[in-house]
Amino acid sequence: MSGLVDKIYRHPLIHVFTDSTITGVSGYVGNFTTTVKTGWMVKEMRHGVTVIATGAGEYKPTEYLYGKDDRVLTQLELGERIAKGEERVSNAQSVVMIQCVGCRNDDRNYCSRVCCSHSIKNALKLKGINPQMDIYVLYRDMRNVWVQ
Ligand code: SF4
Repeated sequence: MSGLVDKIYRHPLIHVFTDSTITGVSGYVGNFTTTVKTGWMVKEMRHGVTVIATGAGEYKPTEYLYGKDDRVLTQLELGERIAKGEERVSNAQSVVMIQCVGCRNDDRNYCSRVCCSHSIKNALKLKGINPQMDIYVLYRDMRNVWVQ
């Protein structure tokens, strides 16, 4: 990761601003102008595309005994345990993945567009470790936009 960060900082066509504030944005797709203030320096940039990446936090369920039974995990937690090679996970006879928990309902009426891919990734990893494991994925739609 540090090598990649280094590459980005050194790239002549990538400009990284830290501790900065966007003070102005105008224009339209194909013709934006953005003003960034870093300390006392102000820089105006013209660009055609804007990607807004705000980051996200994983939903911690209140459903399905999460937090009450240590066998109930989020997909991120499962991924960490697979990566650590936990025997309890790799030796499991069966795994059930419940999709859309806490999502696509009245409170959160949207699809995160990441968890289906994450489930498939974890399911394939588990099958690679233990081909005998039964894996069930309970889903409403399979919205798989990207699998690593
Ligand atoms: S459809 Fe898939 S990606 Fe969308 S919220 Fe449900 S589990 Fe997540």
